[in-house]
Amino acid sequence: MTEDIAYPPLVLKRGEDARLRAGHLWVFSNEVDVERSPLSGFAPGDACAIVDSRGRAIGVGYVNPNSLICARLVNRGLGHALDRSLLVHRLNIALALRERLYDEPYYRLVFGESDGLPGLTIDRFGDVLVAQATTAGMERLKDAITEAAVKVLKPRQLWWKNDASIRALEHLPEYADLAYGEPVAQPMLVREAGLEFECDPVGGQKTGWFYDQRGNRDHLARLCEGKRVLDMFSYLGGWGLRAAAFGAREVVCVDASQDAVDAITRNAARNGMADRVSAVRADAFDHLKALREQREHYDVVVLDPPAFVKRKKDLAEGRIAYRRLNELGMQVLSRDGILVTCSCSHHMPRAALLDAVQQGARHLDRQAQVLVSLQQGPDHPVHPAIPETDYLKGYILRVLPAA
Ligand code: SAH
Repeated sequence: MTEDIAYPPLVLKRGEDARLRAGHLWVFSNEVDVERSPLSGFAPGDACAIVDSRGRAIGVGYVNPNSLICARLVNRGLGHALDRSLLVHRLNIALALRERLYDEPYYRLVFGESDGLPGLTIDRFGDVLVAQATTAGMERLKDAITEAAVKVLKPRQLWWKNDASIRALEHLPEYADLAYGEPVAQPMLVREAGLEFECDPVGGQKTGWFYDQRGNRDHLARLCEGKRVLDMFSYLGGWGLRAAAFGAREVVCVDASQDAVDAITRNAARNGMADRVSAVRADAFDHLKALREQREHYDVVVLDPPAFVKRKKDLAEGRIAYRRLNELGMQVLSRDGILVTCSCSHHMPRAALLDAVQQGARHLDRQAQVLVSLQQGPDHPVHPAIPETDYLKGYILRVLPAA
């Protein structure tokens, strides 16, 4: 028998343990009995024992007294400390899933709450790891996480890409640094379906690559042969280069970032597709309007924008943006074209995205047929008790003239 952990208790008000017992991992600040356990007694990132109003332990977690989500449960029961050994255990469990799913070591290794590590993301690029902490609790465990990851994965490098804007909610600074390994000039590479993309662990978007869309990009097979493809919000050209690999005649990638556009040009050359793939730096809405004016049409249009609905209160405005974008996308789509449309906004319901497409289609007097529903890949597993972990939705549609 191991001794129970003696972390300071965070006591919940009566009844406020129900959600945690049902599987959730978050404690909101109004659920804490602050008379018995004042939040001011905790520093950001302190470990705690989360207990119910009768003093029964739920488990161990960590606190941030300054945040609306003031604590997250990391382990049920009081049998394990929040230390390297628990992290090694969690990483091994996460790794076992990915090794079953993928032939090559390119994937999201840790997807936060869904992998029992709230506030932590780790992406794997062969022997390079890119980690991101979004909570003070995970920031506090940074060195232990680095050590655990080095022990389990023996990487050549481990980067902390701690520049997500949500860190501000936890009063954490934004930075990116190399925590393990030697700095080397060669670019970090990601391999996907036989293609190679160079990406940048420091200057890139998020943790460098959008692994969540990999399985969705597989659906481009059979839809692209001999076609003209437009990849909007392309980032490094994930969709566009996959389309070229599936036989597209011509691919145009569009992104607002000059770094992304430059990288696409290099990635196209690296994969022997420079003659068929081009990249344009432009605002997506402006570019689509210009194409519409020029009466340009593409056979396949991919719309994979950043989240338009970052907060719940932005939903009404966000729905309008998705509607406008999808309508513009359909205006540059050939008569019998394929539209790939996505939303990575958790707060944008799946049905609302389809609604945005349908409204746009009707307005243009066109008829849409849903061919495939898209969701995040299995290296981003959904936690059934935490709806926020189910964020990516999309559709592949055929869009015809009205019947
Ligand atoms: N489709 C990509 C991921 C897109 S991430 C993939 O599969 O990997 C969103 C991208 O949209 C970012 O690269 C960002 O630079 C770009 N972006 C954001 N706002 C934009 C805008 N208004 N017009 C064009 N690109 C934009």
